[in-house]
Amino acid sequence: MNDVVLTGDRPTGPLHLGHYFGSLANRVTLQDKFPMYVLIADYQVITDRDLPGAIQRNITELLLDYLAVGIDPAKVTIFQHSAIPELNQLLLPFLSLVSVSELHRNPTVKDEIAHSSQRAVSGLMFTYPVHQAADILFCKGTLVPVGKDQLPHVEVTRLVARRFNERYGEVFPEPEAMMGERPLLQGLDGGKMSKSRGNAIALSATEDETAALIRKARTDSDRVITFDETHRPQVANLLTLAGLCLGRSPQDIADEIGDGGASALKKLATEAVNEFLRPIRRRRAEHTEEEVRQVLAEGNAAARERAIMTLEEVRAAMGF
Ligand code: ATP
Ligand code: MG
Repeated sequence: MNDVVLTGDRPTGPLHLGHYFGSLANRVTLQDKFPMYVLIADYQVITDRDLPGAIQRNITELLLDYLAVGIDPAKVTIFQHSAIPELNQLLLPFLSLVSVSELHRNPTVKDEIAHSSQRAVSGLMFTYPVHQAADILFCKGTLVPVGKDQLPHVEVTRLVARRFNERYGEVFPEPEAMMGERPLLQGLDGGKMSKSRGNAIALSATEDETAALIRKARTDSDRVITFDETHRPQVANLLTLAGLCLGRSPQDIADEIGDGGASALKKLATEAVNEFLRPIRRRRAEHTEEEVRQVLAEGNAAARERAIMTLEEVRAAMGF
């Protein structure tokens, strides 16, 4: 079977190293092999906050991040939720295929509720994984390059596809998640590195901002640097970051630092990250806002055409 790749990000802020090692690197490899759709999930911004914020600015920055890491709009269809109303129509029959208790059990939704800035948890928070099923299935996506937090959502999509096919006849494939080199990169506070949690190293940050962020990271007072994820998670996290950027093992880097202490570790990690991101940051500056507007307009038109076809097929299968 020929794969179709679908993945995406919420326009809630700049992409970070977690995105890179969780998903972006895989996208850049896959774009040469399969048709690929990348979704800017703008409606999902209001799952965990009351207002969409600087949504247009964030969408532009997200597109610039894509171009900077090497996602090629000549090969990839980049589009946004709010431009494809057919996705919302797919959501309705899909919602009928999952139970309320299944929606309540989702561990990623529970984690996001814990970090939400909303006073009350909205219905969208519980149902967005089903919306995500529409995102993936509208183009009959089969391969979904994502971080670990997305695994429960891909499971929901598989469930929706399976149940739809059982009830109405074979329409959808059951997609597979594909995790990157680091499926869950920790942020500088020890929790999941997230755009919205103030703990991320943005791909687009300056070298000085990167240095300041790493300087602030908590470590411990033991001068001998060792890689011990259980007992020294903060130290291990900086070693992991440096290792990913240098293509070396964290143990090897710990041995090199020896008794240099936290300051030597932070210096090495800062240089590793800045060195790694330098070409990405340089490429980012080569693209214009006009260019990204054009990319999105073309992507939206192509994705909409695909969505209309799938919605027709769904209506026919359901006898509507
Ligand atoms: P927000 O805090 O606004 O939810 P986020 O950093 O979690 O932002 P998303 O847009 O929700 O980013 O996720 C986009 C993609 O990046 C998903 O596939 C997700 O699994 C992946 N991803 C996000 N954070 C990490 C991380 N720390 N490590 C690995 N992958 C990640
Ligand atoms: Mg998220």
